[in-house]
Amino acid sequence: MCDAPATGDEHVPTQCIFPEDTKYRVNLIRVPSCDEHNSKKSKCDEYLKFVLTAVGGMNELAGTIFGGSVMRSFEHCPHLTDKFTPDLQVIQAGGLETGGFTLDVPRFELSIASIVRGLYFHETGRKLLGKISGVAWGQMLTENYSKAPFLEPIGKAERDLPASYAGTNPRVLQYAFNTSKNGNTSMCRLRFYEGRPICITWKNSL
Ligand SMILES: [Zn+2]
Repeated sequence: MCDAPATGDEHVPTQCIFPEDTKYRVNLIRVPSCDEHNSKKSKCDEYLKFVLTAVGGMNELAGTIFGGSVMRSFEHCPHLTDKFTPDLQVIQAGGLETGGFTLDVPRFELSIASIVRGLYFHETGRKLLGKISGVAWGQMLTENYSKAPFLEPIGKAERDLPASYAGTNPRVLQYAFNTSKNGNTSMCRLRFYEGRPICITWKNSL
């Protein structure tokens, strides 16, 4: 993620989003990391785990983690509930009544970008230092509870650049990298717990 010398290894994605059952913790991906980025991330990782396991549409592993380690953190630190869901409310989305809360976008994107940079390094042996220009996920809604701005780029990507997913623990995370035909733009899709893909895009400096 930076040009500082590596002082250790970091799991990609963070180990905390894996079920405690060790059969889902095989062949974990590790990349070199500096101290600063390794320790800076740990608070974001807890938030990432909460967001990924709180939303619907994932496999049962997400529910098990939410009911297990996420609930234990909330019981241990009750203030976390307010911190993670400062405005939790009942909302109408897509004809359904559900719970909604404002996503801490910078924090969420930092975690997601770290995973993409780590996987990119794992796949290519090169650093992805360019600026991430977009993170889109079908679970996100605008302030007016519309999904459209997020679904459009995702739908286009699914049509134009079919994903061929990889991942050593595919029930936890699958990922796919693609580059546009003209080489200008690249994309990574992350599918956590077999849910809807999160699409991350960036421009390549040619
Ligand atoms: Zn660093």
